[in-house]
Amino acid sequence: MPDNIEHISISTSMSVLAAKQQLQPMKPHIVVLPSPGMGHVVPLFQLAERLVTHHACHVTFLNIPTEASPAQTQLLHHSPNNLPPGLRVIDLPTVDLSATINGDPPVLTRLCINVQQTLLSLKSTLSQLHNKPRALVIDLFCTQAFEVCKELSIPVYTFFTASTLLLAFSLLLPQLDREVTGEFVDLPEPVSVPGCSPIRTEDLILQVTDRKSDEYKWYLHHLSRVPLAAGIFLNTWENLEPVSIRALREHPFYQKISTPPLYPIGPIIKETEPLTPTGVECLAWLDKQPLDSVVFVALGSGGTVSAEQLTELAWGLELSQQRFIWVARAPSDVNACAAFFNAGDDVYGSISYLPQGFLERTRGVGLVVSSWAPQVAILRHPSTAAFLSHCGWNSTLESLAQGVPMIAWPLYAEQRQNATMLAEEIGVAVKPAVEAGTRVVGREEIEKVVRVSLEGEEGKGMRLRARELKASASKALEFGGSSYSSLADVVEQWKAKLET
Ligand code: UDP
Repeated sequence: MPDNIEHISISTSMSVLAAKQQLQPMKPHIVVLPSPGMGHVVPLFQLAERLVTHHACHVTFLNIPTEASPAQTQLLHHSPNNLPPGLRVIDLPTVDLSATINGDPPVLTRLCINVQQTLLSLKSTLSQLHNKPRALVIDLFCTQAFEVCKELSIPVYTFFTASTLLLAFSLLLPQLDREVTGEFVDLPEPVSVPGCSPIRTEDLILQVTDRKSDEYKWYLHHLSRVPLAAGIFLNTWENLEPVSIRALREHPFYQKISTPPLYPIGPIIKETEPLTPTGVECLAWLDKQPLDSVVFVALGSGGTVSAEQLTELAWGLELSQQRFIWVARAPSDVNACAAFFNAGDDVYGSISYLPQGFLERTRGVGLVVSSWAPQVAILRHPSTAAFLSHCGWNSTLESLAQGVPMIAWPLYAEQRQNATMLAEEIGVAVKPAVEAGTRVVGREEIEKVVRVSLEGEEGKGMRLRARELKASASKALEFGGSSYSSLADVVEQWKAKLET
């Protein structure tokens, strides 16, 4: 195995590593550190690859292995020999969370405690690296790195993994926290975000809907520290969110709070992925379907629906008589992201939770997998025509970058805000309506939106718009495009510092 692509346990082999490293001079050494979870690991890993392959950097990618899902481990450790030279993955020491996590806290709280405990070793890890990092790039929930890196004189950049509109709202949050009494969800009007579209209270990110919760406290804690960054990478591009980007750059509010320089560098999304046997089966099945005929149904890395909703979804797909691939996870009546910590478990076995006879009746028309599918490869496939998605930001970008319109099915985090933006502003999604007086989307409504997006005029319009965005995304990423140049500017600054 070549030196530069080793996967190593930092606690065992730092000195060996130091001796082996042969980082070429004048290539900035950048460290990238996401919190666990595919929604953050995937884009930050992709950024790491891009820095190495397009911008001549060396990158050390720090992985938090404690409670990592099978999908995360598969992505980072599946085939180290496929990593480009100059990129390596290091596992931070695992930590015992039994004394710090009580009961079964919600996802963000659990994740933030894990990160907090794991990053107690960050200083020693960074100090032991043979070649001093020129910069550290973190995601939203690793802000403990600011203090550590201040001591080590390493600038810290934040990679914002969600929409720029959410960043604009989040930078406003400390002020809202000071000025608003009561819950934000009880405000009589939508929340007005300086220079941006107002956000309806029912679309607010879930973490801010209960201000007494630990989820809120963690979110506020990390997001109020974003202005400490040397710069913010945005996973968007100039033409996708022009209004929010302009607001953050020019509105007096964001100038007053000293918003760091912004670098829209997206869409930074997964380009390829290792295929499991299920993945191979999905693509082989798609190969046999007509062009633009299949709806792909997947609710992110951990999304789950209630048993009642799962039944309605199954009936809706069946009644629509359209072709589908469905990642149909076991339902959960208590948690909309019940599979978050075991995302990617490629479990075979009977899918007993679907309506009786569903699999037999839809054989040939649909393919059901129980946990995980190769999403990007499916979206890229010419037979895929629409994506019923929970509207996580990565799924959103992956769909747009492949020109695939969406059926917006938000579940948790900031997905309701994304769904509204996609349906009402960008014009690439249809939003199914929840049945009055219930929390469930009924089978007839599902049948209708599936048909509309595959067959109807509205679907054609959305597909056209999605294809325009695909072209604009690809232009932004090309050499000389806005996102390419934005990242190149930062790398030039890193290189210039090396030369002085
Ligand atoms: N994903 C996948 N296969 C699945 C489900 C999800 O490859 O069956 C990937 C998807 O391509 C995306 C990530 O998991 O890169 C999910 O990120 P997103 O931000 O959309 O949602 P989150 O899981 O963070 O809620």
